[in-house]
Amino acid sequence: MTSHRKDKPVVDRSSDSRQDSFNRELMGESRLRELREKHVSGRLSSSESLELILQGNSGHVDALKGAPMTAHQRYLKIIAGQADYLIVRCSDARVHKTDSEQDTMVGIHIYIAGNVIPGKKTASFDEIAQVASLVRSDGACLDEAHCDCGAVKERVKWVEGGMKPTGSESLDCLLHEVIGPTPSDNAVAQLSKLRNLPGLGERATGALYYDWQKGGITIVDANQSPVVELLVGLFNKRHADADSDGHLAERLAKQKPHAIIIGSNLLPFSLNTITHASQNEVFQTTGSGNGLDEFDEGSILYAVEHLGVRHIPFIAPGISENSEMVAAVFDQWEMDLRQMTVNGKTIVANMLDSGELTISRLRYDLSSGRLVPMGAAKPVDDSA
Ligand SMILES: [Zn+2]
Repeated sequence: MTSHRKDKPVVDRSSDSRQDSFNRELMGESRLRELREKHVSGRLSSSESLELILQGNSGHVDALKGAPMTAHQRYLKIIAGQADYLIVRCSDARVHKTDSEQDTMVGIHIYIAGNVIPGKKTASFDEIAQVASLVRSDGACLDEAHCDCGAVKERVKWVEGGMKPTGSESLDCLLHEVIGPTPSDNAVAQLSKLRNLPGLGERATGALYYDWQKGGITIVDANQSPVVELLVGLFNKRHADADSDGHLAERLAKQKPHAIIIGSNLLPFSLNTITHASQNEVFQTTGSGNGLDEFDEGSILYAVEHLGVRHIPFIAPGISENSEMVAAVFDQWEMDLRQMTVNGKTIVANMLDSGELTISRLRYDLSSGRLVPMGAAKPVDDSA
């Protein structure tokens, strides 16, 4: 039946726009599910990997709207030396989530293969000491190991083989700093290096061990500290949430990331939270404004050579006014990657040039929490 009413229906624009955003959300959710399913069953292309990271990041932006602190406030707390904790963890994609937008504690997250604390003779020793000094004096500095650690296994093989050079300086350096036959032995050894950092003062220190097979995070050794206790409780809750169906250990049986993210060590959240990545989605390492060190490079080589990762997102914080600074950091990281050699060959540079490997440059916008894609590196000016 046709209606002959002449009066126009009242258009409720606010409900239209609500409907629009609801539809967008639904579309985003179903795309997210689709990409995740493809990641589990097959292999994502670099552009799909980027799409998954950006879709996940939209969830982070939404979650920040009701958060007790903005990303910018958290960042300012870190650079003012008022972070509540520092945690050094393995680059492994299967580690649990540490933080969330709702946290009132602010952490600094460092990712290094084998949760290594750089030794005194390495280039990154000063860097880790400097990051530890950004933790408030009654905060905590932690090192966390995990079960089935590839870096510890590589170290064991390397020791059995007579500790011969691997052909990569970065990997050699990493294998020298991972210590002990098991991940928990390694955690104890890293803790003793952590405790020897200059200027640590009264900050509590500790080593944790994450075992997803046995179901949780335990303290290997730590000072008594309310911050440490709170964190272990939070981490165990996050592990339990991820394992709500009881099948997490199955999903983590084999490590299978779709990207190796290089994130700045001054980001106000962990990379898992910024990208809302599930466990076993992203391998990660942290770089500083000065560039990538031998440990970052060792992690990247491992992801590219052993895990077959073909997408390297760069993430660093910035406000729009300083995006040139962010671009300069990314230029440095890319240059460092291009100069890495294995048996004299610049394998990453070759793979980037052939298109086999892709870099995405993402500025973490401190006012919104959004990852904003930036242009590629400036072409080298050879006109001069
Ligand atoms: Zn590991």
